[in-house]
Amino acid sequence: MSIVIDGKQVAASVIDRVKQATASLEQEAGLRPGLAVVIVGNDPASHAYVGAKSRMAKECGFTSIQHTLPEETSQEALAALVETLNADPAIHGILVQLPLPKHLQAEPIIQSIRPEKDVDGLHVVNAGKLATGDLTGGLVSCTPAGAMVLVRQVHGEDLSGLSAVVIGRSNLFGKPMATLLTAANATTTIAHSRTRDLAAVCREADILVAAVGRPMMVKADWVKPGATVIDVGINRIEAPERGEGKTRLVGDVDFQAVEAVAGVLTPVPGGVGPMTIAMLMANTLIAASRVAGRTPPRF
Ligand code: NAP
Repeated sequence: MSIVIDGKQVAASVIDRVKQATASLEQEAGLRPGLAVVIVGNDPASHAYVGAKSRMAKECGFTSIQHTLPEETSQEALAALVETLNADPAIHGILVQLPLPKHLQAEPIIQSIRPEKDVDGLHVVNAGKLATGDLTGGLVSCTPAGAMVLVRQVHGEDLSGLSAVVIGRSNLFGKPMATLLTAANATTTIAHSRTRDLAAVCREADILVAAVGRPMMVKADWVKPGATVIDVGINRIEAPERGEGKTRLVGDVDFQAVEAVAGVLTPVPGGVGPMTIAMLMANTLIAASRVAGRTPPRF
């Protein structure tokens, strides 16, 4: 049976450190971190995420501002709001919740956020810094940064000699995760929808990270005995056993089956998910610390 990592507990310890550093930043430099979260439209899942982020920012002692814009918001109006937030000295982090309604283009909006306020780590400057090995000068995308904290909990800082496989090659997760693993000296493979014999590729991994968006795709015989398995997927599936019309969240890993083979495993929910929001708080604190000319803590 594998050890199941409690992401909530690890996230809570990150949040504790953010709270302490926020208090000393305010005391010693007179600066309170500010996070602005922007949401457009009525998607209930996005509203739930944004609400949780805004609440957590308050709990951390930040100035927390939420802009809720109507579904029919124009590209120009959204761009103008980002410009205002870019220029606001009380705001150190800007997050535009994705996905945006279909009539809006996300990419120009993301790229218009000032890189030093891009706490989602999606700006090309931040992605580029990570890709070129600058792990401390930019802001790293929250979910891979959080998944990496979990990997470090198990294996420490140095992954020399370990092989890692990341399933998924998105800019949001797969690519930055592979870069972080490689930077920590893992020998890293990125697998995707065109990979031949994915199961065989996965079986080579000492650290297997699944970020696909396909419920319970990773089976027990895809996993090397004793491997660390990080499940990033969030999939809502029907759960008739809970009653008519009920649903539940599952990951990309068949948890019950893989639990018998893996050494360490993250659950869904309660694994990587809570780390994402914790790292958003960490990134906002890092951005604010830099404005105050202080060396930010490392998470
Ligand atoms: P994405 O942009 O849709 O990327 C999915 C990746 O999976 C793509 O690279 C795709 O390959 C690959 N893929 C799809 N089908 C595959 C298959 N049958 N075999 C192998 N690879 C396959 O998704 P994402 O944004 O990276 O997110 C992935 C998952 O993580 C989703 O479930 C999402 O909800 C979850 N997520 C969770 C958090 C969190 O906070 N926990 C944050 C972000 C994302 P191609 O490139 O070849 O198409």
